[in-house]
Amino acid sequence: MKKTVLFLTAGLGFMAACTRVPITGRSQLNLIPESQMQSMALQEYQSFLTENKAVSPAASKDAEMVKRVGSRIAGAVTRYMNDHNAGKEISTYKWEFNLVNNKEVNAWCMPGGKVVVYTGLLPVTQNETALACVMGHEIAHAIARHGNERMSQGLIAQGIQVAGSVALNRNPQAQNIFLQSFGVGGNVGLMAFSRQNELEADHLGVIFMAMAGYNPQEAIPFWQRMANTGGGQKPPELLSTHPSDARRVQQLQQLMPEAMKYYTPAK
Ligand SMILES: [Zn+2]
Repeated sequence: MKKTVLFLTAGLGFMAACTRVPITGRSQLNLIPESQMQSMALQEYQSFLTENKAVSPAASKDAEMVKRVGSRIAGAVTRYMNDHNAGKEISTYKWEFNLVNNKEVNAWCMPGGKVVVYTGLLPVTQNETALACVMGHEIAHAIARHGNERMSQGLIAQGIQVAGSVALNRNPQAQNIFLQSFGVGGNVGLMAFSRQNELEADHLGVIFMAMAGYNPQEAIPFWQRMANTGGGQKPPELLSTHPSDARRVQQLQQLMPEAMKYYTPAK
């Protein structure tokens, strides 16, 4: 009897940590409370912005474009989540979209909706629709909680106790895994996400951009441009753990009919 109770309790704890990714429906194990993910993210985001100055949207058409694209995608994602009874998953999001002066070809979105695009990415995106493709992809990582999943795997691998109220904020090992999972700070692109997570972010990303009124077909030439940057030397940080170009383009082609169903051109 005792055993059964224990088993049930453990089972409930496990189930509480199991979540489903929107759109793909894949189940995942997330051990870290979302509030804790967001507070760690906020801390990292703020310190990043003290070292990397954001470009003012009032002074730059590019920074204005980053804000416009981000707001449109966030609006579409919020509507989608609300329509699918998942609005509470992102109810604590406080979206921010920044362009920072940095020559790296990079962009990211943290849990809680803090999005950063590096100026080095813009020569590759070349147009607003391709920018929507990258931002949709990055926002998809956050919505699909890939960071939590990645960190949970890291914590398990390192045997860090997560049960109860562990002060992850003050745990240097956990902080390290967090930084690696998100690829910011000194560890840009070091670990980032798994290939499976990347393909999933592509999937959600093309749907998000389509819902926001951007033609998802631009994703294919954009990722091809991305693959050709760096002149065959060091790949851009954004691609460090990405699936092979052929695999990625093949999946995008398969997804196009689904993505196009969500697409209505913006007026
Ligand atoms: Zn990615």
